[in-house]
Parts: sequence; C-alpha cells; structure tokens
Amino acid sequence: MINVESYVNDQWVCPGDSAQVIVSAVNGEAVARAGSDQLNIAAMLDCARIQAGPALREMTFHQRATRLKALATYLNENKQHLTELSFHTGATQADSAIDIEGGIGTLFVYASKAKRELPDDHILLDGDVEQLSRHGTFIGQHIYTSRQGVAVQINAFNFPVWGMLEKLAPALLAGVPSIIKPATVTSYLTAACFKLMVDSKIFPAGSMQLIVGRPTGLFEQLQSQDHVSFTGSAQTAFELRSHRHLLKHSIGFNAEQDSLNSTVLGEDVTVGSDDFNVFVDEIYREITTKAGQKCTAIRRIMVPHAIKADIAEAVCAKLTSVKVGHPKNADTEMGALVSISQREDVLQKSELIAQEASLLTTAKPLESTDLDTSIGAFMRPRFYLCDNPDAARHVHNTEAFGPVATLMPYNDVSHAAELLNRGGGSLVASVVTQDPQFAKAITLASAAHHGRLYFNNSTSASEATGHGSPLPHMTHGGPGRAGGGEELGGIRAVKHYMQRTSLQGSGDILSGIGNCYFPGATQIESDVHPFRKTFDHLQIAETIKVGPRQVSIDDIEHFAHFTGDTFYAHMDEKAASANPFFPGRVAHGYLLLAFAAGLFVDPDPGPVLANSGLDGLSFQKPVVAGDSISVTLTVKSKKRRNSEYGEVRWHVQLLNQHKEAVASYELHTMNAIDAA
Ligand code: NAP
Repeated sequence: MINVESYVNDQWVCPGDSAQVIVSAVNGEAVARAGSDQLNIAAMLDCARIQAGPALREMTFHQRATRLKALATYLNENKQHLTELSFHTGATQADSAIDIEGGIGTLFVYASKAKRELPDDHILLDGDVEQLSRHGTFIGQHIYTSRQGVAVQINAFNFPVWGMLEKLAPALLAGVPSIIKPATVTSYLTAACFKLMVDSKIFPAGSMQLIVGRPTGLFEQLQSQDHVSFTGSAQTAFELRSHRHLLKHSIGFNAEQDSLNSTVLGEDVTVGSDDFNVFVDEIYREITTKAGQKCTAIRRIMVPHAIKADIAEAVCAKLTSVKVGHPKNADTEMGALVSISQREDVLQKSELIAQEASLLTTAKPLESTDLDTSIGAFMRPRFYLCDNPDAARHVHNTEAFGPVATLMPYNDVSHAAELLNRGGGSLVASVVTQDPQFAKAITLASAAHHGRLYFNNSTSASEATGHGSPLPHMTHGGPGRAGGGEELGGIRAVKHYMQRTSLQGSGDILSGIGNCYFPGATQIESDVHPFRKTFDHLQIAETIKVGPRQVSIDDIEHFAHFTGDTFYAHMDEKAASANPFFPGRVAHGYLLLAFAAGLFVDPDPGPVLANSGLDGLSFQKPVVAGDSISVTLTVKSKKRRNSEYGEVRWHVQLLNQHKEAVASYELHTMNAIDAA
C-alpha cells in the first residue's frame, strides 16, 4: 500500500491518523493511504515566499523555460511506473496517455513557446507604447512582472498528472512557486509524478510543494500577492471562491468547473456522409474516453429533427458494442470510473436526466465479461433521447460526470444555438458542418456562452485535435457554469500569475525599465557601424543615421519597369493627382525600403547573418521625385535564440529633407553571438 506523502518546506510528510484508504477503481483492493493531519502551512508558505520565489524571479523567462524543458525531458525518461499506477484509477492505456504524455507534452509546449514568445528578461512588455504627450517626452507602456506570492493549485480527480502540469508550467514560467493540492482519490498518481519532479532538483527548492488531503488553514494565511487556481465541481468552486479571507484581500481565484458541453450537427450534413460519420465518431470518443470523466466531454447533442433517428441508431450501435473492461487489457475500449461512489453519483444524475429523456442504449449486462461490478466501478454508457428539449431542465443543467449523454432535436440554426446556450456557459461546444454560414450563425449566437468553439468536418477530421482536448496553445475555460476562468491559451496563462502595471514616464526611463528602445528615448550614437557588432556587443538604443539620398523620376521609372510594378500612382501624373492620397506621381513604398537598406547596410561579411523579416511597416507621407530620404537605424530589442545567434529588432525611421517622417518599421536580423 502506498503512503501518499505531502511535501512541505523541503520535507516529505507521511499521511496522518486521519488518512483515508483509497481503493482501486478496478478491483476494490486498497492502493494507498492519503491525507495528512495538520501540516505546517506557515513553514510551507515561508519556504515558497522567502526561498523559492526570489530564486525563481532571479531567473529570466528563458532560464525558467530551459529548466521547464529539462523537467519535461526528465519526466519523459522516468514516467514508466506512472501508467501502472494510473490503471488503478480506472484509466485505460489510451486514457493514461492523455493524462501522462499529455501533461508532459504541455510542459514541452510551454517551454518552447516561452523561448519564442517571451523575452530573455524579467519584465514582459504588454502591447505597444502609448504616446501620451504632444512632443513624445512622456509616454506609456504596460508591463507584466511576477507576482511575489504563491500559486495555490487545487485539482480535480480526473487528470491527476495533466491537471497538475498544465497549471504548474505557466506558474513556473512566471516565476511563481506552486502549492499543489490534488484530488485525494487519485493523489497517489499525482504524488508519484510530483516526486519525480522534486527528485530531479531542476527547479529551486520550494518551487513546488504538495498538500495531500484537505489544505486546512491554508486559505486563511494567503496574501494579496497569492493566487488560487481551482479545478473541480461548481459546488466546491462556489464554496472556495466565496471564502471570506480571499474576498477581503482580493486574492485572485480562477475556477475551471463543471460544464454541460455540447455538439451540434449542421443542417447541411446528410445521413451516411463522411461528415455524418465524423460526428458519430466524435460523440463515441467523448462518451467513452476516461469513461466520460472529462470536464470537456460531450453531454448534449443537437441534431436536425429529420436526422435524429439515424444519429440515434448510429451512436447506439457503437456504444452498445463498446468493450468495457479491465483497463490493462489491450482490447478494452472503456475502463472504469474512478470509484464506486463516483459511479453512484453518475447513476443518480442519470436518473434525473431520465425524467425528461428516454434511454436508447440497451443495458447489455457487464456480468458477461470478467468484471465484478460490486468491486469495480464499471458501467455501460447511457445514451438518452430528449424529444422536447425546450421543456427540459435537467438535461441542460445536470452534469453526470461519466459516460452519459443526451440527444435532442432542433428546428433551425437559431433553435440549435438557443439549446447550446441553455448549458449556462460551457468549456466547449462543437459543430460538424461544411457550411460557413451555419458556422457563423452559431458563432454569433453562441460564442459568448462558450470558452471554445470547435468546428470539424471530413476535411479537417484527420488532423482535428478533438472536441474534448484542451490544448496548451488555446484558452481552456468558459463563462458562467464553467467557472468564468481561463487556463492555458499559450502565454496568456503565464500572465495569470503576473501583475499588469501601466508605466508612465519619459522615453529614457521606460526604455531603461523595459530593456527596449522606445521612440523619444535618447539614441546612442554608434562608434562603429552596428552591423559590425556581434549580438552581445550591440546596445539597446545604439543608432546610426545615414543618408540623404535623393529620389529621382528615373529611379521611379527604373524600379517600375524592373519590378513590373507600374501602378498608375508611380507612372501617370494625371491619374496620380486625381488620387486623394497623392500630390502627383510618387515613389513606390518598396523603392523607399530598398533605398533605406542601401543606405544602412554594411555590405561585408560580418555578425549580421540574415534579415528575418519586418513588422509594423507604415508609410506616413508620400515621397515625390526630388525628395531626399535619410534613415535612422536604432537597436530596439535583442533576444538570444541559441548559443550561436540571437534576434535583433531595429527601429527604422525614414525622414524626408524636411525631417518629416515618411516611413517606419521594425526590422529583424539574426546576429552572431560571440564564440564562447
Ligand atoms: P471536487 O469534488 O469539486 O474536488 C475538486 C478539488 O477540490 C479536489 O482536489 C478536492 O479535494 C478539493 N476540495 C474539495 N473541497 C475542498 C475544500 N473544502 N477545501 C479545499 N479543497 C477542497 O471535484 P472532483 O470530484 O475532484 O472533480 C469532478 C468535477 O470537476 C466535475 O464536476 C468536472 O466537471 C470538474 N472538472 C472541471 C475541469 C475543468 O477544467 N473545467 C476539469 C476537470 C474536472 P478532495 O479530493 O480532497 O476532496
């Protein structure tokens, strides 16, 4: 029997006398003891706030990302025993892969996104600089900095590994230590994965701690820099988020809670078509994966009246033949629920649904297999038909957290959307259609009620990621019933553990803080051409001014014929003059860019390896033959990519002979790093 230990202030703490025995979902045998008596919460919080927080915040985003990748690699290499433990939770091999490999994959994605999208710095700029004064001496910029507190993460039972890792990754990247509280019933699996992370010693001591059992006294000791992320039932979320201490100190609370997710079949789909099959397959997968114990699983299914019987038949055929069995067996398609009491809960909730809907699946007895349902939490899927969904109540608000779903007919697209929205806010709604108009109508009527809209059809099916799969790249969460929270969504999730602050001040002050050149800040005249400097030697705000170069009518003619861009504004004086934007024939914008490069480029081989793109190009004033342009090239920001090169972003400003801005953009180059 496993003693599931908490991890407090760098020490493992055994389960106490009050610990509960957790039994296998499959055969009822005791697997673990979990639950601690009073833990030293104060020491735990001190360890996080005083020891781990500063150590994490000292690292840049990139340094944390490097460790996160190392952690993911370590887990990947040492995860073998986790799947074995996962069988006790009722999860099949495929279910366990979603949880374990999916969780580790989330760490990898976050590590690589952070390297690409976050600076090698401690401060994250948010949006563009704001011009707050006429002459540009006073500007504004939003930034994010790490919260100086603790991320408390309370997780549901159904994804013991993924649930922990998807919250941990963004918190670690943000530089905030975590206190993780897994659901007790599957805590032995979470704790096994947690132990690997601690043993790896990849993150500083105290970066992650574990409370097994109830976190008694924790909330009362949280402070305003702390944050609580919760996943679980709406009832628990309500109780926890209304904790007096959290409210009094404005302590952030993010809730991911239960949700009546739905799927809709488009009016364009015909019986037996590929799209029809995509729809049926997706429903089957959602009902049977994790035995329906997924927060995103499909609970309500809306189809056109005319096709209702065909869908019912096709889904029933698949569900009645699903092989429910021991999770370890290779041919098992659906494992057990997490516990007998969870199955009781699902059956009770199904009875509520049955008041408004008829059961379509025939109850093929499980006893025909080798399963003992008195000790294993197995059940067959239950698929209902609700013929009058407008009058129904339970089918729209009862979450049976197991393999249970209800089919209902709709009249037209607005009726389908109305039924979708009866869930009171969900994590995800999916639509199978080939018709963009149907998709748009659903989006307009329903997007505000759902955290994610997932459109699928036979064109996208082979690559679609699945109705029920939250992805690290995309926001997971939903309004209303779903908790009103947000997780994942790429770097957005990192920001949940950071504070946004608006900075106002001069260009020099803000450039110094943000480690980024903002217009208005003092430019540093470069002693040698900046293209001769390696990545490490370039300074932020380092500048050269080059030019002028006069633009002639021959230049414009030559460029037009050479490139084939003989647009009338460059070639026809009369037509150009009639255009409200131009005084007459004007130089091509691309000609100006080419001339600018010709002015600022230093041609010989050197540290600049490549021009990798440009952003934010704008033409501010037309240039006519006879005008002269000059260019200011300024180092705006730098980001190390690897040990060989880094990306330099340059602010490029083109002026005419009257010092008027004619064009500006941000140029990106890859610059060599000094050999070590
Ligand atoms: P739950 O009973 O609400 O428990 C969720 C977590 O809260 C568990 O860790 C639980 O710990 C803890 N908890 C309960 N009471 C607490 C208290 N007074 N103080 C501190 N912690 C407390 O939910 P569950 O049964 O584990 O999970 C199933 C539900 O979660 C379903 O409704 C499902 O829809 C939802 N869910 C939502 C998402 C999502 O992303 N939106 C994901 C997964 C699941 P104990 O285990 O020790 O009680």
